[in-house]
Amino acid sequence: MVTATERDEMTWYRCDACGLLLSDQTDAEQHEEHCDAEDPSYLQ
Ligand SMILES: [Zn+2]
Repeated sequence: MVTATERDEMTWYRCDACGLLLSDQTDAEQHEEHCDAEDPSYLQ
């Protein structure tokens, strides 16, 4: 999932699967849909 986090007085959106930080929520959500770093244990 995508988590909003504040850093340097900006809001960033972090992909929980791989830790990538994006400055745009839409970009983050689109990334997450295609992220291949999902933890297999999460699906169990
Ligand atoms: Zn990711």
